Amino acid sequence: MTLSARARALPASGIRAMMERARQLPDVIHLEVGEPDFPTPPHVVEAAVRAVREGATRYTPTAGLPSLRAAIAARFAAEGLQASPEEVIVTPGAVFALAAALLAVVDPGAEVLIPNPGWPNYRAVLHAIGATPVPYPLRRELGYVPDVEDIASRVTPRTRALIVNSPANPTGAVFPATVVHRLVDLAGELDLVLISDEVYEAFVYEGTHVRPAASDRDGRVVTVSGVSKTYAMTGWRLGYALARGEIAEAMGRIAEPFVSCPSAIAQHAAEAALTGPQEGVAEMRDAYRARRDLVVDLLASEGILAARPRGAFYALVDVARISMDAQAVAMRLLEEARVATTPGEAFGDLARGTLRISFASPPEAVAEGCRRIARFVRAAAQVTGP
Ligand code: PLP
Repeated sequence: MTLSARARALPASGIRAMMERARQLPDVIHLEVGEPDFPTPPHVVEAAVRAVREGATRYTPTAGLPSLRAAIAARFAAEGLQASPEEVIVTPGAVFALAAALLAVVDPGAEVLIPNPGWPNYRAVLHAIGATPVPYPLRRELGYVPDVEDIASRVTPRTRALIVNSPANPTGAVFPATVVHRLVDLAGELDLVLISDEVYEAFVYEGTHVRPAASDRDGRVVTVSGVSKTYAMTGWRLGYALARGEIAEAMGRIAEPFVSCPSAIAQHAAEAALTGPQEGVAEMRDAYRARRDLVVDLLASEGILAARPRGAFYALVDVARISMDAQAVAMRLLEEARVATTPGEAFGDLARGTLRISFASPPEAVAEGCRRIARFVRAAAQVTGP
């Protein structure tokens, strides 16, 4: 009896050990978790409760409730992006929208371009489907915005898709319109499917969020998003994709043997979130912006902020001056200063020498965590420095 090659190839999460240890220690400031600290808005919770009471306890169509697909299409259309309900696929989390898109367009053995640093699940899902991840660099000196040439030079005859993520985890980068347009052009020139992970679309503090789909001329862009981050609904597991033609149809078919359909209850909740009052989203964005400003104030003055986050709710802290790998730095920071972070290398080798912090935690925790990090880095750099 042996495990499948896929199971064996699946990388273990480097973040787990840290999380386990953080759970055992008292008084830890948690800056490692990438999820909103806000509760799901009450009107969304109410809609879900009502839906259950009214019998929304059965399977739904695989690609989602028609009313929810229509609501999502209407949201895209309101931005000027043509979208019909048939082009929307609702999934259990954006994480499965991404997997369904990959399963629809990528054969085993094919290559897919992923950001380095980038969300670790990109690599993991490609291993799970038997495809090969090919990282492209996001360079710190370019503010972690991709250089299109870096991507083009990694394309081979086996490359099928390009994954992009803006606003970005873990860098907080927001790609400017010129770069987004060039990425779409490049996908067209090289006949790649561009999968755009936009789960942080609602949280932009500088610049604007530009959807690759807005400049898509031939249906090769798949937009992936969801309600997890925008509406503080990570536990509801509800995401969606906007895809065109055959890809949309194939994603719906492929989802069936994996998930049958997304949770009916979560779909009703998501519909309430998307069609109800939106002030709460702006309030959360403003709260994250204030926390982002705290992080910048406290870390940039110490010279340990790798880049100013323009979106999402993450920042990379530069700890390269400490002569230890960042995994060890993160563990010591946790043990000695009681701040839990994520070592940058979990996101790719170009984040080596950094720690990722999430500022989706309460402002007092973000501020105190940053002060402790600054103090720790100052002391540790003196001890271990040249
Ligand atoms: N994409 C990125 C870049 C993320 O950071 C995350 C969650 O951390 C997701 C997707 C997952 O979103 P969901 O909860 O909708 O599956």
